[in-house]
Amino acid sequence: MEPSFNHFNDLSVQNLNIEYHLHTNQTDGKDSIEKMLRAASDKGIRQLAFTEHIRADSSWFDEFKARVKQAAESYPDIDVLIGVETKAIDLKGDLDISVDVLSKADIILGSVHSIPDSKGGVIPFSDLSPRELASVEFELAKGMLKHAPIDVLAHPGGMYASRYGGFPVHYFKELMYLAKVNDKAIEFSSKYTKNPYDFLTACGEINPQVSIGSDAHEAGAVGQCRQMLVDFDFRKFQRRD
Ligand SMILES: [Zn+2]
Ligand SMILES: [Zn+2]
Repeated sequence: MEPSFNHFNDLSVQNLNIEYHLHTNQTDGKDSIEKMLRAASDKGIRQLAFTEHIRADSSWFDEFKARVKQAAESYPDIDVLIGVETKAIDLKGDLDISVDVLSKADIILGSVHSIPDSKGGVIPFSDLSPRELASVEFELAKGMLKHAPIDVLAHPGGMYASRYGGFPVHYFKELMYLAKVNDKAIEFSSKYTKNPYDFLTACGEINPQVSIGSDAHEAGAVGQCRQMLVDFDFRKFQRRD
């Protein structure tokens, strides 16, 4: 199954019932596949993506996919995608994922989770000033949008935002523009977007394809991103000109 994204200015209350970012106890989430599906069903989610953390050497994807497929049979009203979340390992858009999983996953989220140095290691976040972290996170995201086979740039600016608050809006804008020209979606992350007014204002202006993702690590968090869009009255940020 393929993901479907709307351009921001085409979002409506009717096509908002999406959860494209979650984790189960297969990786660092708390709850089972079944529990996440039940939560999605209870909340009226119609398109759901399992997006576990993957690495190039992970060997569980096929077995996990089979388990999700089987569990999803009890929820015919939900389109269930089995994807992954992978991280950038350099500025050129290379990802920590095998070619095999890349070909089998329904949706690929590309994230910045660490700051790679040029020798295969990582630079501790504490070694970077806020300005340096914002800049390098932006460059890593840019590399993925330009060159990586991702469907979604997940939690843009999230590493910066979780330490210092709102990611600079000019970076959001450029990432949205790059997502748009490269036919990728940018995630509105209810977990990591600390300046939603800035993010949504930029969305209205640039009108990229938007992915809706709560980065839910437990069943209670499924649907949070949809809720945040409603709470912030996303329609007020849409432009129709
Ligand atoms: Zn992530
Ligand atoms: Zn995640």
